[in-house]
Amino acid sequence: MRNSFNILFKSPNNAEAIQSAPAEMASIKTAQLRWLFLGPVMLVIFIMIGTMITEVYRNANKEINREIQILHTSSNVVYQDNLEHLTGMLAGITGTMALNAELRNALAKKDRTELSKFIAPVFSTLQKEYEITHLYLIGADRKVLLRAHNPESYGDIVNRVTTLDAQLTKAPAHGVELGAHGDLALRFVIPLYKDNEKQQLIGFIELGVNTNHLLMDIQKSLGIQMFEFLSKNILKREEWQMGLSDPAFSTEWDRFTDVAPSPQALKSMTPEMHAIMSKGIFPSTETAMEVMQGKSSFRAISFPILDIQERKVGSIVMLVDVTSRVLNVRNTLYLGLLLGVAGGGLLFGFFWLLTGRIGQLIEQHQNALRHLATRDGLTGLFNHITFYTMLKDEIARSQRSGSPVSLLMLDLDHFKILNDKFGHVAGDKVLKEFAEIILRLARSIDKVCRYGGEEITIILPGTHTAGAMVAAERMRTTIADHLFKFTDGDNISTTVSIGVATALEHAASAQELVIVADQALYIAKQRGRNQIYQYNS
Ligand code: GH3
Ligand code: MG
Ligand code: MG
Repeated sequence: MRNSFNILFKSPNNAEAIQSAPAEMASIKTAQLRWLFLGPVMLVIFIMIGTMITEVYRNANKEINREIQILHTSSNVVYQDNLEHLTGMLAGITGTMALNAELRNALAKKDRTELSKFIAPVFSTLQKEYEITHLYLIGADRKVLLRAHNPESYGDIVNRVTTLDAQLTKAPAHGVELGAHGDLALRFVIPLYKDNEKQQLIGFIELGVNTNHLLMDIQKSLGIQMFEFLSKNILKREEWQMGLSDPAFSTEWDRFTDVAPSPQALKSMTPEMHAIMSKGIFPSTETAMEVMQGKSSFRAISFPILDIQERKVGSIVMLVDVTSRVLNVRNTLYLGLLLGVAGGGLLFGFFWLLTGRIGQLIEQHQNALRHLATRDGLTGLFNHITFYTMLKDEIARSQRSGSPVSLLMLDLDHFKILNDKFGHVAGDKVLKEFAEIILRLARSIDKVCRYGGEEITIILPGTHTAGAMVAAERMRTTIADHLFKFTDGDNISTTVSIGVATALEHAASAQELVIVADQALYIAKQRGRNQIYQYNS
């Protein structure tokens, strides 16, 4: 007994550290562990889903833009090819006409009646078969002798680049040119000479095809919509307005700064084109512009129209319906999102269960460790170190509240003899049963501890010495009346001596209280054992 005090008091620092350990033992709760682990997991899942979705969206958009660029290039190429093809056809027709002596004579004589008679059936065929929209017979002075497409208008001087070029180079000239009323046409002009030396000019034959026809062909073959817009720096507003089929369109001139829709485009204005117009931004030649029309999605992009002098006379706006592609992208995105969320959910669920299980195991281990650290292995009572921790806490509480705390110190009488006579295994069994009986007799708020060997200490919170004496007496008589039975049939009875002391009445600290209770126990032993003694200062 005194030895154990010595051991304890020899290393107070170490004892203090160990005693305070149970109260401060860090306990990881399952919920904490879950968020500690699932927080980063969820973040990673979110980042993964987000990255996947943006990547899919970016790629799908890139693919749509690539298709648009291909269509853009191919429609431009088809447009230029068709122009070339048309030019060849016009060259053939004008060349054949230029060889006709009747026509040459009438042109040289500037005989309008003759010219009309000759040209009317020819123009009608050209209109029907080749979609030729303009036929001019022009004198050597560039004065219009006959407009087959508009016979009432004549006598004006032609100052278009193609005619001037043909006069200057004495060779056929051709190119896309803007007409006076905003009609864009491919024109082919052939100069006619009286002689082979090209000395005496007799006039010009000019054929023209409205480029609008070309667009319609490309639209049909590529399944896209195309519209002509004209450069405002070449076309004057008044001229443009004269070409309009409906004066209500005249405000469209102000919509864009550099271009105006061609009167032909306005005539066949579709809701999609209207959507471009109302957007107020003219589609660029490089990147496709997004246009929404109802539930349909379009991409608009343009390419320039160059005239004979390589001037930009206008632009062609191409409009591609990408509704189904956009819908596909959206569906892919939804599917990806669904799969991502489902996968993420599964992962989340898995980690939720896993962390729950790990948390449970940790808690179980923590509880087991706490039990091991605070309990005595043989009896299951609180151990020596925990006894001191609890006693200190109770005395501190007693000092705060003024309520008493009593300490009982129990020691089996002549236990050494019992051990010697029946062996240590029997001694252990007696110790265990002794602990069980005491535990049963103690109140739930009392703390029963194995102090060492065959000594038990009991902390009685809120109990005066008188109450402690009653409890001690009950324990003493119960042990004295008890028969400890062994399997081999032996019965042993034993007795216990008990020392009683109370804080703050007899002692002001845990150590002091233990010392005085021990002194009381010593006196009980001295007085003949199997009795209780109350410390008396
Ligand atoms: P007293 O009435 O003065 O208390 O006499 P005692 O024999 O009980 O006291 P003593 O201190 O001389 O002997 C205590 C004995 O308790 C010595 C030791 O063998 C025994 N003992 C201590 N711990 C255990 C234990 O865990 N198991 C067993 N079987 N015996 C123990
Ligand atoms: Mg003893
Ligand atoms: Mg003893």
